[in-house]
Amino acid sequence: MSQLLIKGGKCANSNCVFEADILVDDGRIVSIGENLGQSADRVIDAHGKLVLPGGVDVHVHMPWPKGDYISIDDINSGTQAAAFGGVTSIIDFAIPDDEESLESSLGKKLEEANSNSWVDYSFHLNLRGDVRKKIDEIPGLVQAGFPSFKVFMAYEGFRLDDADLLLIMDTIRQANGMMNVHSENGYLADYLTSQTVAKGDLDPRNYAFVRPAQCEIEANYRLISYIRALGTKTHIHHVGTVKGAALIAEARREGLPLSAETCPQYLLFSNEDYAGDPEKAAHLVCAPSLKSPQDRDGLWQYLADGSLPVLATDHCPYSKKQKEEHLDDFSRIPGGIGGVATRLPLIFTEGVAKGRISLERFVDMWSTQPAKIFGFYPHKGSIDIGFDADLVIFDPTAKSEIHANDLHMKTDCLPYENWEVLGLPVTTILRGEVLVEQGQLKVNEPGGKLVGRYL
Ligand SMILES: [Zn+2]
Repeated sequence: MSQLLIKGGKCANSNCVFEADILVDDGRIVSIGENLGQSADRVIDAHGKLVLPGGVDVHVHMPWPKGDYISIDDINSGTQAAAFGGVTSIIDFAIPDDEESLESSLGKKLEEANSNSWVDYSFHLNLRGDVRKKIDEIPGLVQAGFPSFKVFMAYEGFRLDDADLLLIMDTIRQANGMMNVHSENGYLADYLTSQTVAKGDLDPRNYAFVRPAQCEIEANYRLISYIRALGTKTHIHHVGTVKGAALIAEARREGLPLSAETCPQYLLFSNEDYAGDPEKAAHLVCAPSLKSPQDRDGLWQYLADGSLPVLATDHCPYSKKQKEEHLDDFSRIPGGIGGVATRLPLIFTEGVAKGRISLERFVDMWSTQPAKIFGFYPHKGSIDIGFDADLVIFDPTAKSEIHANDLHMKTDCLPYENWEVLGLPVTTILRGEVLVEQGQLKVNEPGGKLVGRYL
């Protein structure tokens, strides 16, 4: 493959910001320094721009396949939106049927992704259904480069009872894998939902009350107790409450092998946004639900100080039509929000530009920590010699408006519609190849590769 030189950009890693040229050969970064004079086959002028490691989004659904609705991005559309958003690696989920083996469901996802993903990819394996028949597969999958196993503490049909959860935790620890968890007390959420529906309080505004903060707080407390007893490396998805984040921060200080993420929706909206316009409320229906304004505002500090090391998206979009079909019954609105394309401009604008988080810490949560925690490191997650040349050139001064229809997702609705943001991913580079430049796709075929992950 040919050489690529990126000249004059301000490069940002998780621990430093520096001006340098970056020379890429055969898909990898081979030299970083001033005035790299080599006559590369291609030179990109990055003066006035930031050069960041490509985004790693460890929580996307392309698609989420269960329930009354299937979310509408597939691996092709979802990863194309990712590329336009500066994301160069994703982890989706293989979700088996009740009796289906992990290997069988993974095989189907690998087939879907092969020659169909625009960015590099891997999968978490979801443990559900008859899990006692499936746990023997765990050690082999860890060794094959699939070390992360997703479990649910909520959703009928998905949640595990605690006996199964403990068995799985022990099995994963013995296999040197990790568990990632939807940590939310589903019994409480289901009870409050059914009571609210039975009373006939079906307006979308009621979604603000049926998955209260205590669902997350209780589940985090219980889960952390189990981690303390068993020592299983664990990652908690989509943290939305300050008290839930505080429990995680305390456990991390204690040295427990625990990491966690939050997502833009929990930082930018609150349950007050469910009141008012029912269409807007429907677009914000997701699980866990949005919490109080105090939670929304307080989460930033846990994100800034690294207690929540990862910023992910839980990308799970539905069309406007799907989202608005059941405004007469909140419990039937499909839960999920698109996010893979907007993580960079939203959190750069609301976090970095507003002084809530440093640029270095942004890079850390955007790329470095997800790469390290989920086993992409030391190939992805940093601008360093020997790393894959997965890079995004970002114009920090460009102003634009978010419109779902411009973002290459299949959905035509986002809760951020018409938001003004600062900063635009101008060029996305995957293993040295320019994928997207100035709003244009620059390759003809999806060239994303499966990446083996090793913890
Ligand atoms: Zn999810």
